[in-house]
Amino acid sequence: MAGTVDTGASEPQVAVTARSSAVDAAAALLEVQRLDLVLDELAEQGANFPHKTKVAQIAQKAAEGKSLVEKLEAGIVKFEAQIAKIEKNIVDLRDKIEREQAKIDAGQIDYRQVAALSADISALNDRINNAESEQLKIMEARQEAKKRIADVQVKISELEGAKEQTLQAYRQQMAILASKTVQITAARDEKRELISPEVRESYDTQRDQRGGNVVGLFDGTRCSACSLAIPTAFIDQLTSPGDIGTCSECHRILVCLGEQHDE
Ligand SMILES: [Zn+2]
Repeated sequence: MAGTVDTGASEPQVAVTARSSAVDAAAALLEVQRLDLVLDELAEQGANFPHKTKVAQIAQKAAEGKSLVEKLEAGIVKFEAQIAKIEKNIVDLRDKIEREQAKIDAGQIDYRQVAALSADISALNDRINNAESEQLKIMEARQEAKKRIADVQVKISELEGAKEQTLQAYRQQMAILASKTVQITAARDEKRELISPEVRESYDTQRDQRGGNVVGLFDGTRCSACSLAIPTAFIDQLTSPGDIGTCSECHRILVCLGEQHDE
């Protein structure tokens, strides 16, 4: 039995020292388990910190915004080509009107030709008006697109700020968790030194297999881990403070501490 000490030792002083170190070892085992559970909790907090989801959501929104800006910019390029094309058309129409007007002004054509040219000029002016009003509509659409780009860019920069804040909160949280983890790990390792290598190995193996609670405290009748009463036949393994055994019910490591025998 690991941790069990022969209390029938011939030198009482040695026996008392050994017993007290056995109690220390049993208490250390419980403390190691408690600290390991705290470390598990810290690791879980680190792994489950919601920054990843938040950052992913923000990145998604920002990407949507950027793709909208690209679309709007492509739209503006198209609008500008349309505006330039209409502009060129208007210039051509004005040139034509000027040439026809020059023919009328030259005074060398008859009234029928003048009437035909005048009708032509009037039709050309209508086309110019139509082209100008179409151009205006496109200019308005371009203006609207520019305004939307500006709005979306404000949103994108807000999202970038929110992302930075989230990451900063995460880094702060991680720094706190890391420093706690270092402290608690050091405290746990110190306590581990008090436990015998066999018990330590049994604890580590069980912890790998079961995780979490692998050590129960024997209160004289029950195992604290499974809450079941230990049959009398097994109790004699756990009579002295510092005894370390196995729970007959849940097979966890069971420790006996003196101060638990109150009842
Ligand atoms: Zn048990």
